[in-house]
Amino acid sequence: PSKERHVGKLIQDRLPPSAKDLLHLAGKLGRELGLPVYAVGGFVRDLLLNKPNQDIDLVVEGNGIALAKALAQELGGRVREHQEFLTSVVIFKDAKGAESRIDVATARLEYYEYPAALPTVELSSIKMDLFRRDFSINALAVRLDSTPFGQLVDFFGGQRDIKERVIRVLHTLSFVEDPTRCLRAVRFEQRYDFRISTSAERLVKNALDLKLMDKLAGPRLFGEFKHICDEDNPLACLVRMDQLGILSAIAPQLTLIPTRKALLQTLQDMLSWYRLLYFEKIPQAWLVYFLGLSHGLPYADTSDLFLRLGLPENKRGEILNQREQMRAVRGRLEAWQKRQNGQTSKVSALCEVLAPLSLESLLYLMAETGDEDLQKKLSRYITQWQHEKADISGDDLKELGLPPGPLYSHILRSALKAKLDGEALGRDAQLALAVTILREKQEVDFHKN
Ligand code: ATP
Repeated sequence: PSKERHVGKLIQDRLPPSAKDLLHLAGKLGRELGLPVYAVGGFVRDLLLNKPNQDIDLVVEGNGIALAKALAQELGGRVREHQEFLTSVVIFKDAKGAESRIDVATARLEYYEYPAALPTVELSSIKMDLFRRDFSINALAVRLDSTPFGQLVDFFGGQRDIKERVIRVLHTLSFVEDPTRCLRAVRFEQRYDFRISTSAERLVKNALDLKLMDKLAGPRLFGEFKHICDEDNPLACLVRMDQLGILSAIAPQLTLIPTRKALLQTLQDMLSWYRLLYFEKIPQAWLVYFLGLSHGLPYADTSDLFLRLGLPENKRGEILNQREQMRAVRGRLEAWQKRQNGQTSKVSALCEVLAPLSLESLLYLMAETGDEDLQKKLSRYITQWQHEKADISGDDLKELGLPPGPLYSHILRSALKAKLDGEALGRDAQLALAVTILREKQEVDFHKN
């Protein structure tokens, strides 16, 4: 790099103490072991962009495992090694006691196949490591063992591209080498509000013309789709992928027809709504979006689509099963609503209908229905009704003298039902209900006491 830049101050100013300490420690150990060590990839990109990123990846020139072991010793952690590529993960407990991990890779010249056009002798191993990465903004490194600390290593114009807010590939065969990069380009473009460079966009189109998506293994596609679903705005990524022709190249069923797009938007809104409630249970975003992507498709097409998207067998079964379950529930919901208009529908009956559904399916149904009243009911079920418990417990029944048996759960369920339906609010009313049931069943002889 021509103009040397040091980012020690950025690290000092922008990172939490734990990350700072770790980077300095890695640098110190690198110096002691005589191993050049770098922080690389997304972490450096986000440091320059001033976005939080706890994911520290290290690359060592020489032998990463030696450095990983030293790091683990200092941190009181352990190392999981992959000898073959000299990569490893250091697993340790952070200051708060949470499990933390750092990837430590090795950059060695013998790992790289040299593209014929490159003058090999001039490349260092860190340069080769960075050259194999997807985009210039992801091909930055910070040297940690140098003095002064934190020399920025930028062989491919990553700083410039961050400044110009552009996603650029490092060479023209980048998408041929790895077509998942087409999806990654869109993901970073949408996440940071950058734009894919004109030449990179042409190379994406070129890759699609060459039908390279067909060669892509399912599990890699699934991995990228999952990442997209975890973004803040997955729909923006999907719309852009649609526009570039990536979606239809992956599977013709994926095309974003207007109804599907509108549904995906609503799903995104529902997920944001749910997240803001800060419930403990967190939905799997990809499941919700995959349900949306298959909206309106017949079973066989859906199954094909999920196969193409590389869903592991068990997950494919799970999502197909959820779709089928929703179908059954839709019918029962309709019946419930009809009864509602005749004023006999009860909340407890609704809860029974909805009980088999996963959180993902519930959010999906909520997004899918155009019926505002049903939407409200579903939201109350998600936030409140499904968590309700009876105000009396087994201990109360024991005190009433009920001998062990199935009546316990029957009564508690009845109490909950009555509570949901507003027929027995509070402990006293539910105890009275319990007594009534016990009298009916004549399990306890109240006249004796
Ligand atoms: P995120 O913030 O989404 O985690 P990231 O850049 O950290 O972004 P990872 O998927 O964890 O994403 O990848 C770490 C680094 O590995 C990237 O910054 C990039 O340099 C490199 N990388 C990941 N996937 C590829 C790929 N398909 N081709 C080339 N390089 C890749």
